[in-house]
Amino acid sequence: MRIPCPYCGERGNEEFTVLGAADPVRPAGDAPLGAWVDYVHQRENAHGPHRELWHHQGGCRTWLVVERDTRTHAVIAVRAARATEGTP
Ligand SMILES: [Zn+2]
Repeated sequence: MRIPCPYCGERGNEEFTVLGAADPVRPAGDAPLGAWVDYVHQRENAHGPHRELWHHQGGCRTWLVVERDTRTHAVIAVRAARATEGTP
């Protein structure tokens, strides 16, 4: 799989580390335990377009939001995570 980093250009996925889904929203500190359990452990097994956090560890070291199709691994969109509301 090739990922087009917005800063380094297209690179092989071996230069990246994937953290996981980009969409879970961190609960408030005083949220019930169940909300934290869901946040930490519950993930959808997407079949199609899916947004994930990827770290370009072998390049610019930027966190990216990569939208890809889980059926084909086709990359749909890539942008810096800092430009996305609700991501680290
Ligand atoms: Zn990069």
